[in-house]
Amino acid sequence: MLYPSANWLPQAPLEPLQLDWLSAAGIEVAILRLDQIDPLISGNKWFKLVEHLKAADRAGAEGIISLGGAHSNHLHALAAAGKRLGFKTVGLLRGHPQETPTVKDLQTFGMQLHWLGYAGYRARHEPDFWLPWREQYPTLQAVPEGGGGLLGALGCVALKAQVNAQLAGLGWNDYHGWWLACGTGTTLAGLVLAEAGEHPVYGALAVPDDHGVAPQVEAIVHEAGLQGRAYELIDASREGFAKVDPLLLEFIEQTEQASGIPLEPLYTGKALLALRQQIESGRFPAGTRLIFVHTGGLQGRRAISS
Ligand SMILES: *Cc1c(COP(=O)(O)O)cnc(C)c1O
Repeated sequence: MLYPSANWLPQAPLEPLQLDWLSAAGIEVAILRLDQIDPLISGNKWFKLVEHLKAADRAGAEGIISLGGAHSNHLHALAAAGKRLGFKTVGLLRGHPQETPTVKDLQTFGMQLHWLGYAGYRARHEPDFWLPWREQYPTLQAVPEGGGGLLGALGCVALKAQVNAQLAGLGWNDYHGWWLACGTGTTLAGLVLAEAGEHPVYGALAVPDDHGVAPQVEAIVHEAGLQGRAYELIDASREGFAKVDPLLLEFIEQTEQASGIPLEPLYTGKALLALRQQIESGRFPAGTRLIFVHTGGLQGRRAISS
């Protein structure tokens, strides 16, 4: 079995986030620390894997094969889960062999790596891409890049219950909405499914508009057969995915000093900065209570800061 038991699920702590621009606007934010769920496994990529692991168990697989880049948070979470839970993992990597901190961890965790080059990686959407891998690893289940799709989203539905269980500890009886970084929108789609229209979900886009996040979210929501939904996508990409600018870096440093919460510049830093900009332009009235999801990704920033 890949997935240990039906009720084994790392818990994300929910903590008050105190920052001067929040108190100035009279807005309360609680941060759901997916970066703190487990000593080895971190971030939303774990939750996106849960239902994929259960599906692999149903198929009788002995492990998982998946793909990503040399800084991939997804491959890192997968390799960590394989090490933690004792199943086999194989990673297909974009580009040519390089020794990033992420790649070193993947090797330490026992993931078997294959470098596909760039053209080889681009072929991942071709219909016969998986054929040779299935032949080489017949007992492994393939998981799409980033752990996406409906299964990925379904794993994130559990986040709502984790928040609900901790609201009283903050002295909250409810909240007005969620705020989180989006790459593919899979995590957001999971929250939209969990809420079924009860509270809105605000997605801060870490990728430019043309990456098709909205259609991907709609496809998942449609496949799940959900009627009521409330979400909104806000551009937070700052000129492109993984584009980093001085204002962003300064904001991250100030936030870390003021709150003690580590952020990285690709997703969580951009999402929180976009929230500040929206709040400062009067988007939310005083008294609003929001859940900000810390989606993790801290392992990936080692390569940026070194
Ligand atoms: C992958 C990732 C995201 C984006 O998640 P999606 O489900 O693809 O929208 C956000 N934050 C971090 C840290 C990530 O690694």
